[in-house]
Amino acid sequence: MRAMLLEAPNSPLKPKDLPIPSPNPGQLLVRVRACGVCRTDLHIVDGELTHPKLPLVLGHQIVGTVAEIGSRDRSRFQLGDRVGVPWLGSTCQHCYYCLKGKENLCDGALFTGYQINGGYAEYTVADERFCFPIPEGYPDLQAAPLLCAGLIGYRSYKMTEYAQKIGFYGFGAAAHILIQVACYQGRQVYAFTRAGDDRGQEFARHLGAVWAGSSQDLPPEPLDAAIIFAPVGGLVPTALRAVAKGGTVVCAGIHMSQIPAFPYEVLWEERVLRSVANLTRRDGIEFLNLAPQIPIKTEVEVFPLEAANEALAALREGRINGSAVLAIE
Ligand SMILES: [Zn+2]
Ligand SMILES: [Zn+2]
Repeated sequence: MRAMLLEAPNSPLKPKDLPIPSPNPGQLLVRVRACGVCRTDLHIVDGELTHPKLPLVLGHQIVGTVAEIGSRDRSRFQLGDRVGVPWLGSTCQHCYYCLKGKENLCDGALFTGYQINGGYAEYTVADERFCFPIPEGYPDLQAAPLLCAGLIGYRSYKMTEYAQKIGFYGFGAAAHILIQVACYQGRQVYAFTRAGDDRGQEFARHLGAVWAGSSQDLPPEPLDAAIIFAPVGGLVPTALRAVAKGGTVVCAGIHMSQIPAFPYEVLWEERVLRSVANLTRRDGIEFLNLAPQIPIKTEVEVFPLEAANEALAALREGRINGSAVLAIE
C-alpha cells in the first residue's frame, strides 16, 4: 500500500510502499478514503511531542470503509461500513481515569498517528471500540475534520459551559467548526487571528462571528470565556485579560510555546485557566450526533496523499482556510 512515512522528527515524510496491515481480533482493517491534517501532526514532525513510534504513519482524522474485520462474529461493523478513526486509539479500561469516565486521561492510552500507525496511507488498522460510524450525508473529505478539529474542539467548547460571549484565539480548523455549534446555540463568537490576517477575519465573519480582529486587540466588551486554539503561550495572559470576572480560558492544543509570566490580577476574581486533553468516546458520540443536526459544514482544502508534506507546510504557514485533508484514491 502507498503510505507517507515519518522516519525521524524534523525530516519530511517519505512516500513508501508498505505491506497492508492485517487486523487482530477486535480490530478493523480500514481502507482510508480521507485523512485530515492536524496541527498535532506538525508538533510530531517537529519533535515537540516526544514519544512517537518510529517509523510512523501520521494521521488521526481518518474516514474510510471497513475492508476486513478481526472478529467477524462479534463486531458492531460490517464490511463496507463507513467509519471514522480518531486520535484516541485505545485505553486500558481499568485505570483510575478510565473508571471515572475520563478515558481521555488514561494512564495507558495509545494515540492514532502517534503510537499507532494512522491514516496517511491507503490502509490502517484500528481498535473497533474506538471507531465511530460516520453520519450519513457527509462526504468522506468533509467528514474527516470532524474527527479531531471537530471532536476535541467540541470538548474544549463544552468547558466554556454556559458562556454567551466566547473568544476563539486562532481561527483554523477547529474554530471554523465550533463557531457553527456556537451560532446554532445562540452564542456570540469573537474571532481573534494573527494581526493583519484579513482573510481569516473575513472568513470568521462570514461564518457568523459578531466581531473579528487581531489577537493583540481587546474585544469590544469583556468575554465570558475564551478558547485558545493557536499553540501560542503568549495568548494565555492576553485571553485572561479579555475575559470578565469568573471567566474561563481553555487551552485546546496539545502543545503550546512557553507562557510568559503575568501579574496575578489577570487571573484574580475567579478567572479559570485550564487545558483540554484528547477525547473520550462519549465526546465523539455526542459531537457526531450533533454535527448533522446543525448541520456543520466543513471547509476543506484537498491534497493528494503524496502531497502530505505540502499540506503540512500550508498548515504551518497559516495558508489553509478551514481544514487540510488528504484524499486517498
Ligand atoms: Zn485507563
Ligand atoms: Zn488532531
